Amino acid sequence: MNYQVVLDEIKDEIKDFLKKGKVADYIPALANVKKNEFAMSIIDLDLNEYHVGSYEKNFSIQSISKVFTFTLALLNYSKELYKRVGHEPSGDPFNSLIQIEHENGIPRNPFINAGAIVTTDSLLSIYKENTFDYILQFIQNITNDKTISFDNEVYTSELKHGYRNVALVNMMKSFGNIENLTNSVIQTYFKQCSISMNTQQLAKSMLFLANHGINPIKNEVLINEAKAKRINSLMLTCGHYDASGDFAYRVGLPGKSGVGGGIVAVVPKKLAICVYAPRLNKQGNSLAGTKALELFTSKTGLSIF
Ligand code: GLN
Repeated sequence: MNYQVVLDEIKDEIKDFLKKGKVADYIPALANVKKNEFAMSIIDLDLNEYHVGSYEKNFSIQSISKVFTFTLALLNYSKELYKRVGHEPSGDPFNSLIQIEHENGIPRNPFINAGAIVTTDSLLSIYKENTFDYILQFIQNITNDKTISFDNEVYTSELKHGYRNVALVNMMKSFGNIENLTNSVIQTYFKQCSISMNTQQLAKSMLFLANHGINPIKNEVLINEAKAKRINSLMLTCGHYDASGDFAYRVGLPGKSGVGGGIVAVVPKKLAICVYAPRLNKQGNSLAGTKALELFTSKTGLSIF
């Protein structure tokens, strides 16, 4: 299949959607992006690459970072982790506080904020003050790209405005589900959200999930097949918060979004995709990005269903 032709068609057909939705504006650093920008990258398991738009331009990966920290946590803890974070869709917004009180400080899944904060806490218990460096090195290693870094402006801005996340970590601490100092946990979480990448790097970083846990870039086993399956399953059922059902219905692929406007998705045994368009729908997922992925699976027949 000629993916370049497919990408060029999508770029053409997506134009009207690029003007719809609103960019994240809870911090100034995220509001100051080119609002109608678009980029999309496909990389297959033979490492052939196809791109369209501004695919070399970095953006804030935000909640896409939760896939990396969940992978690292699964590597370290296996089933133990599920005592502290579940694997059910939440049906609630990504930063909701309500469920966490009702369910005694145990978040529904690792892709809502509360679940990602617990996941990061579990890494802090192992890697201590080196936790963020370890997360960043993991991403640099799987993409074979040492230039990947974080955006200090986004990070400090999140620290200043992240009241809900601070509330979440404190609520969970009160239930005994946070092992480390709440300040260290939230700082590490905000730093992982502020990592900057482009669609090319993000597509690369997801190849191991399209390949049963084996990273084709280095031909190394990153995670076993059973765990790779679980990460993909959670991306399918929980990767878009309270719009996860809608994303599965329209796109039919495991995917994970971030409020920076990026979405990664995986076609098992074939390829990884990343799309960027910063305007978001009501649930905080890229509006045009979701449409672009819907067009991709409709045109290629490459959904998992
Ligand atoms: N930094 C954001 C937050 O914690 C990440 C949320 C997201 O991308 N959905 O609120």
